[in-house]
Amino acid sequence: MKNHFLEDQSLILIVDDEPFIRAQLRLSLQCEGYRTVEAQDGREALTVFKQLKPDIVLLDAIMPDMDGFECCTRLQELDNSKYTPVLMITGLEDQESVDRAFEVGAIDYVTKPIHWAVLRQRVRRLIQQSHLQQKLEAANRELQRLVTIDELTQVANRRRFEEYCSQEWQCMAREQLPLSLILCDVDFFKAYNDTYGHRAGDRCLQLVAKAIQDSAKRPADLVARYGGEEFAVILPRTDAEGAVHIATTICESVRGLLIPHYGSQISDYVTLSAGVATAVPQPNSDFQEIIDEADRALYQAKIAGRDRYQQYSKLSTSTAFFWKSEV
Ligand code: GH3
Ligand code: MG
Ligand code: MG
Repeated sequence: MKNHFLEDQSLILIVDDEPFIRAQLRLSLQCEGYRTVEAQDGREALTVFKQLKPDIVLLDAIMPDMDGFECCTRLQELDNSKYTPVLMITGLEDQESVDRAFEVGAIDYVTKPIHWAVLRQRVRRLIQQSHLQQKLEAANRELQRLVTIDELTQVANRRRFEEYCSQEWQCMAREQLPLSLILCDVDFFKAYNDTYGHRAGDRCLQLVAKAIQDSAKRPADLVARYGGEEFAVILPRTDAEGAVHIATTICESVRGLLIPHYGSQISDYVTLSAGVATAVPQPNSDFQEIIDEADRALYQAKIAGRDRYQQYSKLSTSTAFFWKSEV
């Protein structure tokens, strides 16, 4: 009869100080098709675990030097050990030992002498469960990514923007630190679509998104697609000077892409305009404030001639800044 376990290439770490028990476990588990590796005490088990990342650990409780309970505690502290079940195998059957095994993180417990029919089912089930859990968590992560990412440009979407902006606004309000926001809008983009077609327009947006993403490099910076051809950059812990620096870089790098734009009224290439706003949020204020300010500044940059950034100022929004030096 075909052994249906033989397909399973999972790696099992067998930890026991008695060579005879290790050999017994090795032979019976190899018969099931598993790969095995052995350690004769807790310390060796930790080393092997770190190197080989087994799918399950069969751990003897009583061993000289570092026993199974301590080894299990240490295993839980290692990176990437979260998904690896530890099955304790021991002659101890008293309540205290059983309780302790679960306390230190063992997922299950079997007693010696080993009941092979039980052990093989437990091992199979634990490995399956752990693989399933990993798949589920990967699927959840992917789902999380999909609901926060803009499919076309692969930067954050509007939903993520709102969420992050609100979160950082509150955080900066608590810490009384500046938050900056840059709103970017591609110039004459309707004309770009009309000239080169919608698909070329989409490719252009992908390149522009990447140029913006590459301009805001701090881990806390967030680039998002705010609307059709509009992008937003959230810069926590960044003052006006820092934000202007990023806005300059964005304008320069988009222009530096040298994407031909026959329909543009101001350049041979694709350009964008940006509105920059900076605030130290007041407690209980709304992050919509900074969005409105950046939006107003963007509007000013547009009417001042496009291909530039404008900083929001309460006093005046009349001065727009060319990113390029005069030629
Ligand atoms: P301005 O310089 O004042 O910003 O002019 P504009 O033409 O860029 O502004 P307008 O808001 O009139 O046009 C935006 C255009 O962006 C219109 C729309 O067809 C295009 N657009 C919006 N989203 C997408 C998209 O996902 N893909 C493509 N290809 N085009 C888009
Ligand atoms: Mg627009
Ligand atoms: Mg536009």
